[in-house]
Amino acid sequence: MSPGGYPLQLSLDGRRVVVVGAGRVAARRIPALLDARADVVVVAPDAAALPEGLRDSIHLQHRPYSGPADLAGAWLVHACTDDPAVNAHVAGDAEAAGVWCVRADDAASSSARVPAVGRSDDVTVAVTTAGDPRRAVALRDALLAALETGSVPAAALQHHRTRPGGGCVSLVGGGPGDPGLVTVRGRRLLAEADVVVTDRLGPRALLDALPPEVEIVDAGKTGYAGGMDQEAINAVLVDRARAGHRVVRLKGGDPFVFGRGGEEALACIEAGVPVEVVPGVTSAVAVPACAGIPVTHRGVARGFAVLTASPGSGVDWSALAGVGADTLVLLMGLARLESIAAELVAGGRAGSTPAAVIAAGTTSEERVVVGVLDDIADRAAQADVGTPALVVVGEVVRLREQLGRPHQLAGRSARA
Ligand code: SAH
Repeated sequence: MSPGGYPLQLSLDGRRVVVVGAGRVAARRIPALLDARADVVVVAPDAAALPEGLRDSIHLQHRPYSGPADLAGAWLVHACTDDPAVNAHVAGDAEAAGVWCVRADDAASSSARVPAVGRSDDVTVAVTTAGDPRRAVALRDALLAALETGSVPAAALQHHRTRPGGGCVSLVGGGPGDPGLVTVRGRRLLAEADVVVTDRLGPRALLDALPPEVEIVDAGKTGYAGGMDQEAINAVLVDRARAGHRVVRLKGGDPFVFGRGGEEALACIEAGVPVEVVPGVTSAVAVPACAGIPVTHRGVARGFAVLTASPGSGVDWSALAGVGADTLVLLMGLARLESIAAELVAGGRAGSTPAAVIAAGTTSEERVVVGVLDDIADRAAQADVGTPALVVVGEVVRLREQLGRPHQLAGRSARA
């Protein structure tokens, strides 16, 4: 065969394909032939290696290969016995009859070769290399993975713009800020979206990679102040989906951790719009982690509690001081840090309990201020840390001294 060959996709529907041999290779080849609805004839003295399910779907001729008559009516032949002489015999007969033949033992002298094949939605990936089947398989897998994760140019993905009545909403957790901390599923949905509704929190760098025709609605919610109100956001999600668009609601962290994702999901369900939730890496755990603070640690903290400290949250801080959660993670609490710290001390946590404020965690703007309950509010004010910020209280904060900053920031390119 010439090195390049001539790639071709065959329509085997109802056409006869003869497989000579019924060993391991045949067992691997036959399912794809059946998927293509070929009329599969297997010629082999012993077919015990073929799974029973396969045997029911083929015409089995229990005998050794006997010559050109066995190829009658065939459009394609697979020579996959373990005897090279028999395979050569089959290939020779096929050549004489003008039938394409794939030799399992000798691709180079076959008239046809089978590429490494995979499918993702409507895409068929078929890879051949010059004599290195493992590389073809690895390349196929890499291409399929790229399609699955959406890490290919947007034009390479499937877009169904305006499918009347067929829109949907995905609530995607974007992670705490670093674009490398979004999930594979989230990234794929983002790459296929027609409309993306964003927050101020979350990995905004991922938006840079979206094609210009994607509509970006900036809901601009900044915690509890400013931005669109929840009703308006729900209405945008539902309206765009009803117009047939694929809508991604990209949220900071996890959609269901102080993200009002539950409300948005309910609004979609009430409106009869299909909704999917893609969990995200919550800042409550990831921001401390990436700053070198594990929220639990053997012998140091057996549990953690995540609370909102926004005004009106109604948390009884002094009561909380005594409960089993050794580590406290406070979201939206920077503005009230002084009074919360005082209440925790009043409730029984020692004023010397380590505490840290982490702002813009997991991003290049990350700031970490460490102190103890008695002085953390002053230290944060002096350092003039901005938002978003969270507070970690507990002995685990000390581990930072040993762990350092164990987080590798994703490249600026974000390869989204
Ligand atoms: N759903 C989000 C939380 C939304 S509440 C999640 O799971 O992470 C918003 C609060 O999260 C902020 O006020 C702040 O306390 C915290 N937060 C979010 N991203 C952060 C970041 N990169 N660094 C520090 N705190 C962050």
